[in-house]
Amino acid sequence: MKKDNNNTIDQHHIWHPYSAMNSDLPVYQVSSATGVRIKLEDGRELIDGMSSWWSAIHGYNHPVMNSALQAQLKKMSHIMFGGLTHEPAIKLTKKLIDITPANLQTVFYSDSGSVAVEVALKMALQYWSAKGQAQRKQFIALRSGYHGDTFAAMSVSDPETGMHHIFEKNIIKQIYVNQPTSRYGEKCCDEDIISLEQALINHADTTAALIMEPIVQGAGGMWFYSAEYLLKARQLCDQYGVLLILDEIATGFGRSGKLFACEHADISPDIMCIGKSLTGGYLTLAATLTSYDVATTIDSGDPGVFMHGPTFMANPLACTAALTSINLLTGSNWQEKILQIEKQLTSGLDICSEFNSVKDVRVLGAIGVVEMRDVVDMNKITQAFVNAGVWVRPFGKLVYIMPPFIITAEELALLISAMVDVIREH
Ligand SMILES: *Cc1c(COP(=O)(O)O)cnc(C)c1O
Repeated sequence: MKKDNNNTIDQHHIWHPYSAMNSDLPVYQVSSATGVRIKLEDGRELIDGMSSWWSAIHGYNHPVMNSALQAQLKKMSHIMFGGLTHEPAIKLTKKLIDITPANLQTVFYSDSGSVAVEVALKMALQYWSAKGQAQRKQFIALRSGYHGDTFAAMSVSDPETGMHHIFEKNIIKQIYVNQPTSRYGEKCCDEDIISLEQALINHADTTAALIMEPIVQGAGGMWFYSAEYLLKARQLCDQYGVLLILDEIATGFGRSGKLFACEHADISPDIMCIGKSLTGGYLTLAATLTSYDVATTIDSGDPGVFMHGPTFMANPLACTAALTSINLLTGSNWQEKILQIEKQLTSGLDICSEFNSVKDVRVLGAIGVVEMRDVVDMNKITQAFVNAGVWVRPFGKLVYIMPPFIITAEELALLISAMVDVIREH
């Protein structure tokens, strides 16, 4: 390693998400974060518009979270989960079963969203194998979807934004259905349903499951689609006898205005993935939930067990963070709060639709999206946001915010006006 100061060590030796080594894009060094404020090393403070990628729903340095974790730390920070169990996992499991759709009765813990998706896909494959239908190996996925960066998760993510051509020989070919065009709040048009049904008809005997993000397509396009499409997808899965996997990793825990986005269509998946805000952004934890039927069918097949077992499975600190975060959420008047954020985002961002550079403005729950006509200059726009005292990290043509739920009306007003000003000038 070269003898460097902090900045050059970062620049020359550390990878960041989707980054190049030796890139001249700025990275800002954070010294601390409390509530909705991120403090930079140089003393500047930024209002957080990202919740650290959907996670930090209660903001940072939360006293209740901190003390729960400190108490658990004194008992144990980790213990292997093979042959051993512990109270944080048991309590969290009971809670998750209580708050998720009724048919979801079993929980598999892992350490990141991508792995939770891998686990969901493997559950579906082992389920069909146990049922003597091992030819059901393919997955149907939606274009513009995003399910993670590991190979199988990548294979069910959008082929173009997921850069499938680079990994061509290593990526499993799945079946891709057009992104639903019908907007959230509207009826679902026939074309959307037809393209999904056609895929199910064409691949009826070889499909293990349909996997999709309910209502909100996140990193693949920040798009909110019709609840009727989700309902129809559930009905079609039942009709054609394939499993439905819902990826609630971004949408879970209130972000879309419902505790889980599948509630917008009043449906239950056969398998559900959660992650991101599960621990309130404190620690890395994800989970894959499924029904007794899927679980016991897997048990009945070869080799009689589900074939996955992460080293840090059900980490006690992470489980404690998750249980505490969920209790904080469900013990608050979160529906009211999200509704207020939604109203303020809707009225505050509305003006952006008058700018020539803007193609579309959409808001759902505590998510505000401004879709530009052209790809934004990341370097310039990030600097402009930091200079305006906010943390907003756009990608491609999308400038969007999803603040911590604890943000006050005044803080949100500052965040929105900074976003409007930067977009106007960009
Ligand atoms: C972020 C995300 C993932 C991947 O989670 P990681 O923790 O980054 O592996 C999967 N699906 C959805 C919908 C996500 O938003």
